Amino acid sequence: MTDTSADLVILGGGSGGYAAAFRAAELGLSVILIEKDKLGGTCLHRGCIPTKALLHAAEVADTAREGEQFGVKTTLEGIDIAGVNKYKDQIVSRLYKGLQGLAKAHKVTLVEGTGTFVGGTSVEVEGTRYTGKNLLLATGSYSKTLPGLELGGRVIASEEALSLDYIPEKVVVLGGGVIGVEFASVWASFGVDVTIVEALPRLVPNEDEFASKQLERAFRRRKIAFKTGVKFTGAKQDDNGVSVSLESGETLEADLLLVAVGRGPNTAGHGYEEAGVRMERGFVLTDDRLRTNLPNVYAVGDIVPGLQLAHRGFQQGIFIAEEIAGLNPRAIDESGIPRVTYSHPEVASVGLTEAAAKDKFGAGVTTFTYDLAGNGKSQILKTSGAVKLVKAPDGPVVGLHLVGDRVGELIGEAQLIYNWEAFPEDVAPLVHAHPTQTEALGEAHLALAGKPLHVHS
Ligand SMILES: Cc1cc2nc3c(=O)[nH]c(=O)nc-3n(C[C@H](O)[C@H](O)[C@H](O)COP(=O)(O)OP(=O)(O)OC[C@H]3O[C@@H](n4cnc5c(N)ncnc54)[C@H](O)[C@@H]3O)c2cc1C
Repeated sequence: MTDTSADLVILGGGSGGYAAAFRAAELGLSVILIEKDKLGGTCLHRGCIPTKALLHAAEVADTAREGEQFGVKTTLEGIDIAGVNKYKDQIVSRLYKGLQGLAKAHKVTLVEGTGTFVGGTSVEVEGTRYTGKNLLLATGSYSKTLPGLELGGRVIASEEALSLDYIPEKVVVLGGGVIGVEFASVWASFGVDVTIVEALPRLVPNEDEFASKQLERAFRRRKIAFKTGVKFTGAKQDDNGVSVSLESGETLEADLLLVAVGRGPNTAGHGYEEAGVRMERGFVLTDDRLRTNLPNVYAVGDIVPGLQLAHRGFQQGIFIAEEIAGLNPRAIDESGIPRVTYSHPEVASVGLTEAAAKDKFGAGVTTFTYDLAGNGKSQILKTSGAVKLVKAPDGPVVGLHLVGDRVGELIGEAQLIYNWEAFPEDVAPLVHAHPTQTEALGEAHLALAGKPLHVHS
């Protein structure tokens, strides 16, 4: 057995793993990064980037279809799915090349292969043992399904949905969370008849209730059907289609069933359990400094309970590198991590929902909702939606919730407001360019500070 060592050995080269690698290298540490597939992981190859490319193609389709309402004569001739896939794949491969170049520039030692944690701070890959002064577990997640529902054929997960070479006529989407809602939005724009089935009472159930209501209203207008508060009981498929049964007794017929019921931690079969890593429901448990129960063994990204988002993984990766370099970085506040659903319209939020804020601070929590009907730029874009602020009693703004086309871009300011614990009075004097959608954030804070401008009293 060959032995190789470094300051930091990382198992998994996705968002969490590669961010830790780059930052550690920047800090002068030697890094070995083990990846069995492609550097960049789920986000780059099967997640964030390709889905957002599809969503952009969907937006272009909608614009072409609806040009008339802006006085521009356009018609949508159709979707060339090969062309859409080419556009999507080009973006992914360009970013992948860039990432490989960055790994080289940072002098990160890339090991291609499947690693197994063998105890201590060591990982074995095909007969070679890699030992770090520190070990980072970052093996990511996989698409889950429900008991008795096997993926295959017409029953697909997001991975297959991203690489379809045809446009189905009818799709049932199982799960009304971020991934389900985004694919439903894309397909509806491509002319597919879509029905979302969600067991919980509302779409995007982790968001503030206000956001679910706004999104549901918009989806109704877009003729995206959804059934909430109803459980799936089974699916049968044959050459002609898939038939999906619900607890209500209803059966839905479709060409495809997309299973989007969440992502499970990819922690089985990599030696974690045997090495004694403390886990719960397959997730690796850490403290707020991302330490596992084993000395010098850390974990980041989707295998750690919490929001399964790429930018959380990036930040956790940076944190680990700085931690082991002795920089004592600030622990990450999970509520301060922005969340965006990139559907049409978008849903974006940071901080606490109204319900969570009331649980934490009691009944003195106040809210203000500013309708995008009063925002010039949103009217120009012909998008509807709103901005809702949640404020702690005699305290700062603790939650910001936005719905509307392009509001994902406003979350940058929203997260500063939350993370810097700003009071409405701190934000009210800040000037927002006119006409932009950021003004909606400004107006909402003006109103909460007691000096509403474009608001009916
Ligand atoms: C359809 C979809 C859309 C998404 N959209 C967004 C979005 O818009 N924004 C956002 O923030 N997040 C989004 N996400 C979530 C995001 O992709 C994940 O949160 C992120 O990729 C997690 O990073 P990670 O480093 O934990 O794991 P991953 O990115 O999954 O990386 C783990 C890596 O480890 C490797 N690996 C696993 N086991 C081994 C082993 N034994 N040996 C060697 N290598 C191994 C894998 O090959 C993989 O490359 C989306 C996810 C999906 C599925």
